[in-house]
Amino acid sequence: MNIVTLRCNECGAPLEVAEGARYVTCTHCNSQLSIQRTASAVFTEKLDQISAKTDAIAGNLDIIRIQNDIEMLDREWAAERETYLMAGKNGVKYEPSTGSMITGILVACFGLAWTVAASSMGAPSFFPLFGIVFIGVAIYGIFSGNEKAAKLKARRAEYESRRAVLLGELSRLR
Ligand SMILES: [Zn+2]
Repeated sequence: MNIVTLRCNECGAPLEVAEGARYVTCTHCNSQLSIQRTASAVFTEKLDQISAKTDAIAGNLDIIRIQNDIEMLDREWAAERETYLMAGKNGVKYEPSTGSMITGILVACFGLAWTVAASSMGAPSFFPLFGIVFIGVAIYGIFSGNEKAAKLKARRAEYESRRAVLLGELSRLR
């Protein structure tokens, strides 16, 4: 029986193998090796296909799980964002923002002008009072809109960072 000397593909240890053998276990690192023969060379290859396949399936399951997590996060965020929206004209909803506060400031100015004008003209007292109510409503609108806008911004940042973490995990698995 002819003996050939090969190297373990895993640890590099020399292995004495019977010519024609198809498999060998490395005496140094215990790797299960298959013996590959080409026209010009004989070498060993670690038999890890089975575990590699298992890893691939587990990896796919992780990818699916993370994709589901991202979808769920997106749905949750869409539902939460909805609760922050303000009702606008014609039932169109919009996000509270500093831009929408300009309207509140304009309304407050209008209320102020109304109050000043009504009281300087000596109108009955409910006329200037009406202007003051206007100012009150506008100021409340400005502050609640401001608070909502700030909270929405913070929640959006939280959502985006959670999404970025999941996307990072996903790209590591691919
Ligand atoms: Zn070895």
